[in-house]
Amino acid sequence: MKRIYLDHGATTPVDKEVVKAMLPYLTEKFGNASSIHSFGQEAKDALESSRERIAKKLGAKPNEIIFTSGGSESDNLAIKGVAHAYRKKGNHIITSSIEHPAVLGACKSLAEEGFDITYLEVDKEGFVKPDDVERAITKKTILVSIMHANNEIGTIEPIEEIGKICKSKGVLFHTDAVQSFTKVPIDVNKMNIDLLSISAHKIYGPKGVGALYIREGVKIKKMIDGGHHEFDMRAGTENIPGIVGFAKAVELTNENQIKYMTNLRNKLIKGLLKIPDTILNGPDRKNLSRRLCNNVNISFKFVEGESILLRLDDKGIAVSTGSACSSRSLKPSHVLLAIGLPPQIAHSSIRFTLGRENTIQEINYTIKTTKEVVEELRKLSPFCN
Ligand SMILES: *Cc1c(COP(=O)(O)O)cnc(C)c1O
Repeated sequence: MKRIYLDHGATTPVDKEVVKAMLPYLTEKFGNASSIHSFGQEAKDALESSRERIAKKLGAKPNEIIFTSGGSESDNLAIKGVAHAYRKKGNHIITSSIEHPAVLGACKSLAEEGFDITYLEVDKEGFVKPDDVERAITKKTILVSIMHANNEIGTIEPIEEIGKICKSKGVLFHTDAVQSFTKVPIDVNKMNIDLLSISAHKIYGPKGVGALYIREGVKIKKMIDGGHHEFDMRAGTENIPGIVGFAKAVELTNENQIKYMTNLRNKLIKGLLKIPDTILNGPDRKNLSRRLCNNVNISFKFVEGESILLRLDDKGIAVSTGSACSSRSLKPSHVLLAIGLPPQIAHSSIRFTLGRENTIQEINYTIKTTKEVVEELRKLSPFCN
């Protein structure tokens, strides 16, 4: 059976070109970037050239990029790192109710240490209102952390406006850009971003490598102690093959892929909404320019998302219910509840996240198959009529 992967929000395959770029750094160019000899220098050169290439994509300076083990570590390092470095200045942090669990979890830990966290509500499409950010800032606020694009419903937040507010109030601004990086243009200076998290495996790079942008002059308390790697902000021998793969993955992205995925996304939305009793979650059809180019999240009323997922999987189509992180629990997604969906409808939602290797044939097959699966399940459903 041919399998169709529509879960790129969870992870992506590693591009063959990325594998090719990484291989020499696993074999003959295996040096430790801290070593003085030629093996070490070879690794160091690869590390620094990767750093420059990733910095360039963000409009940042190379010394403002530090490599981590992924998006979760970057989020934790940004939020806990700033909280602990600026504790004397204040103990208040502002975030939103629809952040990734890495951000919400870091905030929860800080709350247990005595930090005061404000969780801003979002509107029915998942947007944070910049005015709400402004109103929530107090003398004790040290950090605002609002994601660039939501992983479940694809909402692209107004981070340029939020950045402007933070700058004018003298508050640091962090954004989780794991989903948006290379899909939505980012310029850390134009957007007044002080810290920004990214990850390789969401953009056809390897798992276990990510980066945190930290504006020059912003202090963070180190989380992993050890050597003086990564400008003394994150100890540990650098993952050179992973970092080289990350930089290559960034370079392989382009505008045409975004246009291509946008077109597939629009076709998928249109086709699925023809099924009766469906709701598009996240930015609505009039607002698709503010939605991630590869995200479709739909509630199929009267059927359980889990049942749809399993039946689609039987037919070779891989999707997710909510995010991969919450799909192992039976609690409805915190994001879908935050946009005001009743639990029953939240439970009937499926996330389709497209990739550049998906084809129009796959999209058409997915629409047809989903329609059949939903109709079949509704016939069995006790909620129906
Ligand atoms: C996947 C994801 C993360 C976590 O990144 P990892 O590299 O898997 O740790 C963080 N934030 C968002 C929005 C994500 O989609």
